[in-house]
Amino acid sequence: MAGRSINTEMFMNHLRCDKSAYLLANEERLDPLKTSPISLEIEGYKNFIFSLICNEEWHENTDIIQNKLFVTSDDETAVADAIITRNNKNILIKIKHSTEKADGNDLYELAYISYVIEKTGMKIHEYWVCSTNSSYVFHDYVEKEIIRVECSFNKVEARLKTIPSLIKHLKINISKRTIPEKNVGWYCERPNQCVFKKFCYDALPFSDSIFDLGETNKSNQMRLHFKGITDVRDIPSDEKLTQKQWNEIKSVLSKKPQIDVESLKSFLTKFFNSQSIWYLSIDYKTTSLPFLSRSKPFFKVPFQYSLHNENRKTNNISHFSEINDDPLNPINFRHFAAKLVKDLSYDPGALIIIYNKNRISELLCNISEVFPEYKEELRLISNRMLDLKEIFKNRWYFDPKFKGSSRIKDILPVLCPSLKTELLHSLNLPNYKNKHFFSMSKTSPHKKELQEVNKIYSTGLRMITSFLIEIIKKSSVRKKR
Ligand code: SF4
Repeated sequence: MAGRSINTEMFMNHLRCDKSAYLLANEERLDPLKTSPISLEIEGYKNFIFSLICNEEWHENTDIIQNKLFVTSDDETAVADAIITRNNKNILIKIKHSTEKADGNDLYELAYISYVIEKTGMKIHEYWVCSTNSSYVFHDYVEKEIIRVECSFNKVEARLKTIPSLIKHLKINISKRTIPEKNVGWYCERPNQCVFKKFCYDALPFSDSIFDLGETNKSNQMRLHFKGITDVRDIPSDEKLTQKQWNEIKSVLSKKPQIDVESLKSFLTKFFNSQSIWYLSIDYKTTSLPFLSRSKPFFKVPFQYSLHNENRKTNNISHFSEINDDPLNPINFRHFAAKLVKDLSYDPGALIIIYNKNRISELLCNISEVFPEYKEELRLISNRMLDLKEIFKNRWYFDPKFKGSSRIKDILPVLCPSLKTELLHSLNLPNYKNKHFFSMSKTSPHKKELQEVNKIYSTGLRMITSFLIEIIKKSSVRKKR
């Protein structure tokens, strides 16, 4: 069974769709920045996990390893979230990245990881899935009643028997010379959205695909797809769609942007009334377990920001940025948060242009949860924000080339093609940030790339704003004539 090297992510993708496993296995050709598997060791987790599973305080006769990479002689790799060794028994633990009950995928993942570990010579005696409740707030001690742990011995053992043949098929699949042919289907969305969705959907042989309609939700798109309708032109006129959805279809077919100048003007009033404009982009990473007192599971950790300051009177533009290269270190996180608050409070009259207020507010709120001393300053900063996403979400400016999306990744290449395209490309690579966040350090080459990508976002915000202001100006000139 030797041959191509495989890992847990590839194995799980193989269960979903052979094309997705193939693309992941051959991703290096697409992504020269690929790095080794994520490794994360946090001292606080040790007692946290141990007391959850063993229902007692951690003591000398026990051992726990976290995020350990196992590699078999056939180059099959897996990272175990945690293994507790106690009374000569090894307990394998999966930390579930959601609050839902353990499902078939979790059990298969445990079975694959267990298969790899046992092949390296360590016997696994128990399997546990640990999923934390998202409302749980970490207070340096563990409240078990709101954390679900499930022992899944029989269910994992049954799946373990099927692993060798699944691995055999996976290795044959990923060694093929050509990408497997696979139609898109329900598996592209479940159990989570496939990271190659853009790749597959962009390749659909339709000039105007129903999958690019942002106003039509996924289940409606699938319903049309199963009826044999994949091109927008084939949607029957009696199809039950809203006026907004028909407007989008009209714009897609005419291939022309739709612009609601009056709404744009009224939304950007604050811009016209401000002398100083700031363009802010904050980058973050989600951690599955809480890592700081008063933080929650699935806590989003802001770790870098890029800020362009524009003085509209002098046309002077300056740039500030900050990156925390040890983001899960509480002391470093505190320094980072203090610097962010200080920089953003520097000119209390400046308008702060952002993209996706929900996300940015959540990040600022996370900082004020763990460092309450910044709560008031962060509230004032939040009040100065103007979210450009509103424009694209409400379709006040809609270009069919956005392919129905209002995400900045899809808007920027269309409106700002002069930005460095190779870095914009990296924004769309699967798991780009995952790969670089955990392997970041003071000397990491990825640090510079992460900073560059974040700078592109804040530069892009300035360029999008200028683009929209130009549209408003042109429309006013036309009206005067
Ligand atoms: S988008 Fe769908 S078809 Fe494409 S690789 Fe992913 S699961 Fe497979």
